[in-house]
Amino acid sequence: MLDQLRGIVQSVNAAKDLKSALNIIVHRVRETLKTQVCSVYLFDTDVNSNVLMASDGLKKEAIGNVSLDMGEGLVGLVAMHAEPINLQDASKHPSYHYIKETGEEIFHAFLGVPIIHHRSVLGVLVVQHEELRAFGEGEEAFLITLSAQLAGVIAHAEATGAIQGLSPSGHRVSDTVFPGIPGASGVTVGEVAVIFPQSDLSQIPERRIQDIEREVDFFNSCLIAVQKDIYELKKQIADQIAEEERRLFDVYISMLDDDALGGEVVLRIKKGYWAQGALAYVAKEHIRKFEMMSDDYLRERAVDIRDLCSRVLVYLQQKEPVIADYNEETILVSEELTPSMLAEVPKEKLNGLISVKGSGSSHVAILARAMGIPTVMGVVDLPLSQLDGKKVILDGYKGEVISNPSDQLLTRYRNTIKEQDQLIAGLADLKDLPCVTADNHRINLWVNTGLMSDVMHSLDQGAEGIGLFRTEVPFLLSERFPSELEQSEIYREQLEAFSPKLVTMRTLDIGGDKDLSYFPIDEENPFLGWRGIRVTLDHPEIFMAQVRAMLRASIGLENLQIMLPMISNVNEVNSALKLIKRAFRELLQEHLDIKFPAIGVMIELPAAVYQTRALAKMVDFISVGSNDLTQYLLAVDRNNPRVANLHSAFHPSVLRALHHVVTEARKEKKLVTICGEMAGDPGVAVLLVAMGFDILSMNAASLLKVKSVIRSVSLEVAEDLLEQVMRMEDAQMIRAAVDLTLYNAGVDRLLRSSRTN
Ligand code: PEP
Ligand code: MG
Repeated sequence: MLDQLRGIVQSVNAAKDLKSALNIIVHRVRETLKTQVCSVYLFDTDVNSNVLMASDGLKKEAIGNVSLDMGEGLVGLVAMHAEPINLQDASKHPSYHYIKETGEEIFHAFLGVPIIHHRSVLGVLVVQHEELRAFGEGEEAFLITLSAQLAGVIAHAEATGAIQGLSPSGHRVSDTVFPGIPGASGVTVGEVAVIFPQSDLSQIPERRIQDIEREVDFFNSCLIAVQKDIYELKKQIADQIAEEERRLFDVYISMLDDDALGGEVVLRIKKGYWAQGALAYVAKEHIRKFEMMSDDYLRERAVDIRDLCSRVLVYLQQKEPVIADYNEETILVSEELTPSMLAEVPKEKLNGLISVKGSGSSHVAILARAMGIPTVMGVVDLPLSQLDGKKVILDGYKGEVISNPSDQLLTRYRNTIKEQDQLIAGLADLKDLPCVTADNHRINLWVNTGLMSDVMHSLDQGAEGIGLFRTEVPFLLSERFPSELEQSEIYREQLEAFSPKLVTMRTLDIGGDKDLSYFPIDEENPFLGWRGIRVTLDHPEIFMAQVRAMLRASIGLENLQIMLPMISNVNEVNSALKLIKRAFRELLQEHLDIKFPAIGVMIELPAAVYQTRALAKMVDFISVGSNDLTQYLLAVDRNNPRVANLHSAFHPSVLRALHHVVTEARKEKKLVTICGEMAGDPGVAVLLVAMGFDILSMNAASLLKVKSVIRSVSLEVAEDLLEQVMRMEDAQMIRAAVDLTLYNAGVDRLLRSSRTN
């Protein structure tokens, strides 16, 4: 059974569109289960009904013309309850709904299972039989397993159609919503530019071109170059191989000829597609066909095709920049956005970012927030290759991408964009006002930075210090470890720009999802592995160079603080302190006039939460890294969109942990800061103020919103709210209680524009 299951999934995966995918399913399932009918019904939101999309066994004329509403007939019942129905005689069931066009009156046995993707029912898979017998347990289990595996493939095929403006049953649709996760707040409209890794045939988007003749010539020149390369290869090893093997090279070269692959690509280019897309299309078609073959030798040909086409692709990409000219309103889309991709498009042309992978706490989302670029992460069902050049709406508040936007929706969103701009402009007056609660309790609002551009933006927003300078950002943008002096210059810029305000520099925090190309860390479980302080203590030369650079940069300014990430025990702090003191002594011996900086420990692991007091004794301040702390407390990978909705600041355990940290640090009379993203959520910020955090450090774009909310709420109200929520056991109830308080304070409009999970 397992082999059959795999076989079906493999061939459905290779289908070129929804229709062929569904036809493969019905034929193969009918064959495997030896039934008389197999059909697929898909729920079409446009007509609000389950439409018969494919069938092997029912009358052909019924396909596309028969549909059942939710709850109507057995199919509607399966869809409504999202549960299988297995009947010996379907006609005896009270919900049986006979539809003449299908010719199903002769079939008695009925088994229908729901097709479920991300909790929503996409449709129903049905098998039927003339005999009066219920389907066996094994058959039911097989169909359920198959349906679960096919759901993702069907969803993807549906989504591809939706980008072309078509619902599953072929109706014209607009405003198709692709759900994702909020990455950075803001709403925007723009034209998609897909960026994709070089030399990867599977990710080339489809693009239209005007000058077909030029494109064909260009393609042919690359083809000839590859043929020459292979010819050269053959010459190089000619004396080491037999004549027969040498002939293989000729076969290889001829596969690219006009009457083979080359010709097919040219035909597609002549239909108006660019060479890279045409090549990828033809390659995929051939690879698909070969991979489905049962003969081992023929299956291997797929490898040859992939190799040949990849060689041509390299030439095509070498000679042509990936995207020559970006639209004035570009929305950059990629399978996996990386911090360096943000630099691809000139800032003034970059309206928004969309990533298929990753979540709101991925580092690229953090950077996007700092730069104020609306971003949606984790749009897992987005069919990338179809999206290039299309107009989309990006809603960074809700975490949604909307393709084929209708004029009405565009107008609505353009109004929201206007309101959003007005809201932000209205907050500018708060810049020079202190952050005090309505009853005059003072809080310090600091910022998180990574790039020099963040620093300038932060000062504009009235930041009172830097609570987290992610020093790894310049390391990520470099091609080797920056030298001590290079680092020192970068650090000096931040210290000078903020002087006399304090700047908290975190020692290098790589590992997890922050991989340096020149220092790869390859691990099964990177977030539980060699990360943060664990790496730098194992490499004291890197740690020492960085600390020396920081100390050197602070000469004469004396506004430096140093902070240690990913601490899980006191020994790590001891070792780090020893190294910092050694670096300090070395610089004194060089006769540099340096002041010893304040040192802090980040509380990012549950282990550190319960040792807050011991850790606080050893250093000058405590800073909570709530992104990681939430990840580790709730066992929710911060980059995994499937579980992103569980990464919640309002989870009672997260709030209790934060409260515990403040209480314990207070016992040692040490300052407590929080520098995770939740400090930038105005609702959460009110709770943090009530808990007693001295400093909230956030992305610059959130600072004035948080200030506005804090200035509207008294400490007394905040403390009452905290007392109330600390007795609650459910994140959603807590969120509702917080929202109500902000509503009563008249600042709820700021919530929509700032919500984290
Ligand atoms: C955190 O984990 O909350 C934090 C501030 O560090 P980073 O997001 O850089 O891991
Ligand atoms: Mg962290």
